[in-house]
Amino acid sequence: MEAIPGNLKEIQSVIAGKAKLIAISKTKSKEEILKVYSTGFRAFGENKVQELVAKWKDLPKDIEWHMVGHLQTNKVKYIAPFVSKIHSVDSLRLLRTINKEGKKNKRVIPCLFQMHIALEESKFGLSMEELLELLSSEDFGNLKNIRMDGVMGMATLINDEQTIIKEFKHLKQIFDQIKQKYFNSSPGFIDISMGMSHDYKIALDEGSTIVRIGNAIFGARKN
Ligand SMILES: *Cc1c(COP(=O)(O)O)cnc(C)c1O
Repeated sequence: MEAIPGNLKEIQSVIAGKAKLIAISKTKSKEEILKVYSTGFRAFGENKVQELVAKWKDLPKDIEWHMVGHLQTNKVKYIAPFVSKIHSVDSLRLLRTINKEGKKNKRVIPCLFQMHIALEESKFGLSMEELLELLSSEDFGNLKNIRMDGVMGMATLINDEQTIIKEFKHLKQIFDQIKQKYFNSSPGFIDISMGMSHDYKIALDEGSTIVRIGNAIFGARKN
């Protein structure tokens, strides 16, 4: 079997029944993506708006596209017509914009709160304080064209399993806490998007429901 479909199959067998897999296709060509698509797989993710839009235009329309990277408010309009889920909501301002664009497109856009769980300063995401402030704002309750499905987070890029375990446990704890307090009557609030190529097996053990995997499927990115 060719490398890409073989990698995909192997990962699918590890996560079977535990989580949903999203193939992160950033920097990968149409041809490489079609190798995955041709196995019947349909869920892909990108971290840049421009690349996401270009690939959506070029590739079959039954692909489900996920936005996993930092999203600027002025770019929401380009993805609002088609995006399946936005994993990277990190402010009320961004959520208001997604809501506005959702309304224009007559749709409800599924979203996740991106939480800052890593040691690195540079990683995007909300702190617990910021999340609680957002959730208790009057504005948040009035947004009808977004739907919050759960949380997303990235662990520290480190070769220390204990640190990664601790960070994923933290994200699961945040999810449980806000589900109980704010989303008890939202049956769709079920997602914990955590786990990448190097740490997805740990993430599965810690309760991940969505893993986002690029390199382990497509091979190492050149840049
Ligand atoms: C690139 C990326 C991934 C996938 O990373 P790999 O190491 O290639 O598996 C997952 N999530 C986000 C937000 C990314 O930017």
